[in-house]
Amino acid sequence: MLCRIAGYSPSFGHYHAGLMGSREAAGTEMPVSGNLRSYGHFIDGASVAPAAGAYLPTEDPFTGAAWAQIARGTADDANAAVEAADRAFHGPWSRLSATERGHLLWRLGDLVQANAAQLAETERRDNGKLATEVVAQVKYMGDYFKYYAGLADKVQSHVIPTDKKGVFTYTKYEPKGVVVIITPWNSPLTLTSWKLAPALAAGCTAVIKPSEFTSASMLELAELIIEAEIPNGVVNVVTGLGPEVGEALVTHPKTAHIGFTGGEVAGRKIYELAAHHFKTVTLELGGKSPNIVFDDADLPQAVKGVVSGIFAASGQSCQAGSRLLVQQNIHDRFVEMLVEFVRSAKLGDPAVPETQVGPIATRPQFEKILSYIQIAKDEGARCVLGGKARPDLGAGMFIEPTIFTGVRNDMRIAQEEVFGPVLAVIPFRDEQDAIRIGNDVAYGLAAAVWTRSLHRAMLLTDKLKAGTVWVNNYRATSFTSPFGGYKKSGIGRESGTEAINEYLHTKTVWISTDLDVPNPFIRR
Ligand code: NAD
Repeated sequence: MLCRIAGYSPSFGHYHAGLMGSREAAGTEMPVSGNLRSYGHFIDGASVAPAAGAYLPTEDPFTGAAWAQIARGTADDANAAVEAADRAFHGPWSRLSATERGHLLWRLGDLVQANAAQLAETERRDNGKLATEVVAQVKYMGDYFKYYAGLADKVQSHVIPTDKKGVFTYTKYEPKGVVVIITPWNSPLTLTSWKLAPALAAGCTAVIKPSEFTSASMLELAELIIEAEIPNGVVNVVTGLGPEVGEALVTHPKTAHIGFTGGEVAGRKIYELAAHHFKTVTLELGGKSPNIVFDDADLPQAVKGVVSGIFAASGQSCQAGSRLLVQQNIHDRFVEMLVEFVRSAKLGDPAVPETQVGPIATRPQFEKILSYIQIAKDEGARCVLGGKARPDLGAGMFIEPTIFTGVRNDMRIAQEEVFGPVLAVIPFRDEQDAIRIGNDVAYGLAAAVWTRSLHRAMLLTDKLKAGTVWVNNYRATSFTSPFGGYKKSGIGRESGTEAINEYLHTKTVWISTDLDVPNPFIRR
């Protein structure tokens, strides 16, 4: 039951027990637990059945059973959502001042925080992330909305002192229009709020296409958006498969910008489609981030940082520190400390607070991780911990925290994103060697350096080609601080004050203060 605040009535009118058709629609043999909840799209402030009448099952990765079904969208649904967002953009949303938009966003932040437990429970059922982790994440997400609530009326024009005489020149910032938000399954609500909060603060409206594996929590958030009195149509959600409904949103003539988080294949496709239609994009893609431990580091602290870098969320995190670079003179000692620390990690039901490592979120991801473990073995890397699935736990989608040593940076296990609990350990000689290996990948999302030397820390923060560099910590992110990638890790930045610019056009206005318009045929 959602919490009631200031007149909120937790209706969730889109739940209908026992609707049929999900397994048939998806063509899977997934088991079903009891009555399925059914979620329609969320368009123009209401739950809407899919135009084609088809649904997809959504699975609990711990039980392996479908617990709900989501609408399988088509271009017709995409069109209805974009039209609603376009009407809202030109209608009620455009009539509010930035300060009024900020008030509504703040109210939404309050509602998110009051309902964090319910939203987190839904998200955990969909992606198997630890309940403790998701509750904290969702509560914090409320602060994203509040941060951008405060920023909404602080987007200021600039008067430009130009070299031209007789003119008054200034910039103004205008919302781009209808924004498409496409998100993955690992942190569905958080990664949506990174885009939605600045987009709404900027005055844009949105159509969201969550991952087909984890749409339910977004559909519940949509109810809170209406409860916050954000007008109908400002935020719409269509669910289903990327090629069927996502591409229809990206190519729709009335969408202006695409905010995407996900993998390389979908990212490239969206970038190509957006380029064809001259739309702007922000792309938050994958990573193969180096976590670099020098011999002068506080090693017990570094062990904790390395573990949280790769084994939090079972390694299903874009910013995972999946390459551990250890200075060669401490390599064996550090690996021993690490293995000792991780060996006791408790795998199990993500709903139970004592669990430290949850299941893999989806069947395809589970298969992919196992295939990379095999690739690493075939390449000659040495598995010093884990390396196996745990069919004895839950529905069997568990993979042990896995550590490989003897990894060379040119191996696939060091170059390709696994997106799972698999760590590749690579020795290095000195600072220059660490910088060379650290940068020798196609990605550039994040990096970390563990050292007591200020000189080393400064040198590496300068030389590492990554959007985020942590020193003596791993994983810190905030609504205040830009996040994004170099190279194949993406385009643009999310969070912080600059993220709002992704959703704004800059307009330059020239006002003549000299009534004498020069005759263009007579040169002065
Ligand atoms: P994915 O790329 O398969 O899917 C992401 C979203 O794109 C889903 O909603 C999917 O339906 C949609 N999609 C797929 N094909 C599409 C198409 N042709 N047109 C439009 N939409 C399409 O990614 P995933 O498996 O859900 O998530 C894992 C990936 O996400 C990893 O590579 C990970 O690194 C990345 N990720 C990046 C960040 C970041 O901030 N950089 C954060 C989390 C995850």
